[in-house]
Amino acid sequence: MLPGQIAEAFRDLGLPAYRAGQVFRWLGRGVGSFGEMSDLPLDLRQRLEGLYAIPALSMLRRQVSARDGTEKYLWRLPDGESVETVLMRYKHGNTVCISSQVGCRMGCAFCASTIGGKIRDLAPSEMLDEVVRTGLASGVPVTGIVLMGIGEPLDNFDNVMRFLALVNDPAGANIGMRHISLSTCGLVEAIDKLAGLHLQLTLSVSLHAPDDETRSRLMPVNAAYGVDALYDACQRYFDRTGRRVSFEYAMVKGVNDTPRHADMLVRRLRGTGAHVNLIRLNYVSERGLEPSGEQTVRAFVKRLEDGGVTVTVRRRLGSDIDAACGQLRRGQMREP
Ligand code: SAH
Repeated sequence: MLPGQIAEAFRDLGLPAYRAGQVFRWLGRGVGSFGEMSDLPLDLRQRLEGLYAIPALSMLRRQVSARDGTEKYLWRLPDGESVETVLMRYKHGNTVCISSQVGCRMGCAFCASTIGGKIRDLAPSEMLDEVVRTGLASGVPVTGIVLMGIGEPLDNFDNVMRFLALVNDPAGANIGMRHISLSTCGLVEAIDKLAGLHLQLTLSVSLHAPDDETRSRLMPVNAAYGVDALYDACQRYFDRTGRRVSFEYAMVKGVNDTPRHADMLVRRLRGTGAHVNLIRLNYVSERGLEPSGEQTVRAFVKRLEDGGVTVTVRRRLGSDIDAACGQLRRGQMREP
């Protein structure tokens, strides 16, 4: 619930408005029960305990990368399901990568999150709890969020929008939209809907191939919205929000990493100011696809740059702790 909604509910209970603010602040600090809200009178704490539940996440596993300090958390949800959150430390701040669903139904050929399909959507409070608890457990302030963990955020549209309002609230985590990135496999109608909300977040689109033939091999979603339709949606998004979309491109050996693919990508993106974020594929043993070699990545980058497309290669963080999408939850599912 947003502060205004808590205030409304409390009004019906005959409680003064400032009590709502107190409760919202406590929730933002990650308390697991009303009993801990020490500035509320004892009888009120007991009354709230009887009326509401705080469905907090509990930690199942925490791994810290010896290489770069990246932290990965496996959380248990109130119904026994689990999701992952990753904390990445950068010079400019600490970014939390959160999951938006338990599993995923998008079926991308290289991704571990989608192997068992989608179990359920995450509630707004569960996504908020990923941010709050990761901050508490790591002991560092969270300054940015990327919705790039398990799940397709635009396939859980309303809950994700409500989560954004919660985490953006000045009385709560107060994380500005410009410090939030949302990554999508490219659900065109949802991209249009998002554009209509005029949020100042960064939209990343998982392109992974410049042409329908290659993209369909990697991403079943391409059968519903081909590359042209997706690309047009990104243009509309820019026209309506003034925010340029960035494209993610995971380099898969022998599939989308040839000079021909680079040239097709250049033809599509040249002169548009679009930014490409190349990702070295994280090898997922179940998936059988391999990352492109260093030489191939370098050659691909050069071809894009020579063609006038701006490109960065994403730093690999946490590769020693299974920090890629869905790997930890997958490992947990395999255990007896
Ligand atoms: N469903 C959303 C967000 C979650 S995935 C989306 O598709 O964008 C976050 C990013 O990780 C996506 O770009 C996804 O394609 C990529 N990804 C998934 N599995 C990967 C792997 N094994 N190696 C590298 N990137 C991967």
